[in-house]
Amino acid sequence: MPTQDAMTPDPRTALPSIDRLLRHADAAALAAGHGRQRVVAALRAELADLRAAGGAAPGDAALLAGCARRLAAGAAPSLVPVLNLTGTVNHTNLGRALWSQRAADAAYGAMRGAANLEFDLDRGARGARDSHTERLLCDLTGAEAATVVNNNAAAVLLMLNTLAQGREVIVSRGELVEIGGAFRVPDVMRGAGARLREVGTTNRTHRHDYAGAIGPDTAALMKVHASNYAIRGFTAEVPQADLAALAAGHGLPFLIDLGSGSLLRLAQFGLPDEPTVRQAIADGADVVSFSGDKLLGGPQCGILVGKRELIDRMRANPLKRALRVDKVIIAGLEATLRACADTDLARREIPTLRLLTRPLAEIAACAERLHPAVAAALAGVAEVAVIPCRSQIGSGAQPVDLLDSRGLAITPRADGPSASAIARMFRQLPLPVIGRIHQGAFILDLRCLEDEGPFLAQLGHLGAGR
Ligand SMILES: *Cc1c(COP(=O)(O)O)cnc(C)c1O
Repeated sequence: MPTQDAMTPDPRTALPSIDRLLRHADAAALAAGHGRQRVVAALRAELADLRAAGGAAPGDAALLAGCARRLAAGAAPSLVPVLNLTGTVNHTNLGRALWSQRAADAAYGAMRGAANLEFDLDRGARGARDSHTERLLCDLTGAEAATVVNNNAAAVLLMLNTLAQGREVIVSRGELVEIGGAFRVPDVMRGAGARLREVGTTNRTHRHDYAGAIGPDTAALMKVHASNYAIRGFTAEVPQADLAALAAGHGLPFLIDLGSGSLLRLAQFGLPDEPTVRQAIADGADVVSFSGDKLLGGPQCGILVGKRELIDRMRANPLKRALRVDKVIIAGLEATLRACADTDLARREIPTLRLLTRPLAEIAACAERLHPAVAAALAGVAEVAVIPCRSQIGSGAQPVDLLDSRGLAITPRADGPSASAIARMFRQLPLPVIGRIHQGAFILDLRCLEDEGPFLAQLGHLGAGR
C-alpha cells in the first residue's frame, strides 16, 4: 500500500524543463539582451534554488521574472558614476579629474575609429606617438622635449631607471614623500634600480648637504615636491635654481618630481599657488615630471618634460614601451593642453579649474536652492541646514590651504538613523552621492555639484533601502 507521502504530488517534479522555458517569449527577449548562454545558466541557477527550497513550483512567467532579476543583477556594472560632494575636488578614490567636453569628444573619436597615433599623415610613414602632445607641452612649459606615460609614478620610475640605474640619487630627507597607496619615494627609487642618498634633516637641508654628498657614484640631484604635507617652523630648503646650478657645476642632471605640477599660475585665479612646470624649467631643471589628472585636469597620465637628450634616452628605454599611454589618453590630453593655451578657455572648459574657481556666491545659491528639497526628503529623519564649509584641491595639492565653500549639513535626530546610516542612504541612491561625516553630521559640499537636476530627481529614493 502506498504511503501517505507517495500520494502527495512532489512539487519539485512540477518544475518545468529548461527547454520548455526557453520557448517562452520572455526567454527569447532575455536571450536577445543577455545572450542565450547566460539565460540558460540563469535558468539553471533559478531552478536549482527552487529545487533546494522545495516549495511549490511557480508559474513559468514568475520563474522567468526571477531569471530576469538574476541577469540584471549580474549585468549591473561595477564601475558607476557618482556625485562627488566630499569637498575634495580632485579625489583620487573617486577618479580624480573630470574630463572636459572637448577632451571627451576627442577621446571618443579616437576610440571609435582608427587614428594617426603613430602615423605621419604628411609623409605617409611611421610617426611618433608623442608628436601629438610634445609641441603643446613644450610651448606651455618652455621645455625642449616632452613624453607621456601612464601616470606620474610611472614617469618618476622611467626617469630614475633611465638616468640613475645602479647609481645614487641625492634627495633631501624632508622630501621622502609617501603619496598614498604604494608610492613612496624610497620604494620607487629601489624599483627603478637607483640608490637613494638622503641628505639633510626632515626640516632643514642646505646646499652644502647636497654638495658634500656628490661623488663618483652620483647620477643626479632630485627634488620631490612635498605635495601632501607642509613642514612649517624652523625650516630650510635649497631653492631649485641653486640646486640646478650645483648639479650643472658637476655635470649632473637635476630632476624634479613636481607631483601636481600646474601649467597655469593658480594665483591669477585667486587660488593658493602651486609651483608651475614652467618655473621649474626656467630655474634650470633638466627633467620635470608631473601628473596629467591632478591640477592639469586631464586624463590620468604622467608627463616628463626637459632636455631633449634626456627625454630621448627615456624614450629609448624598454620600460617606456611598457608604460606608454594609448590613443584615447593622447586624444584627451591633447584637447586639454589646447585649452590650457588660453587662460579664460582653460578656466571655462577644464572642470578641475572651473570647480576650483567656482564663485562662492554661486555655490551658496545652489545650497539655498537645494535646502528645501533635501529637508523635505529627510523630514522626520534628520535636520538639514546650509553651512559654510571648506573644500580642498585634493590629490596632494595644497593640503594646508582650503577654499571657502557652502554645503548642506545633515544632522541626525536622536531617534533617527545615525550620520553614517544617512551617508549610506545617499550612497545607495541610483546615482550614488558621496559626502563626508564631520562632527556627527553628514556634510554635502556643493562646490562640485554643477548639474542639480539629477541630484534632485532622485531624492525620492532616499531611504528606499532602509
Ligand atoms: C601624486 C604624486 C605622484 C604620483 O602621481 P600619480 O599621477 O598619482 O602616479 C608622485 N609624486 C608626487 C610628488 C605626487 O604628488
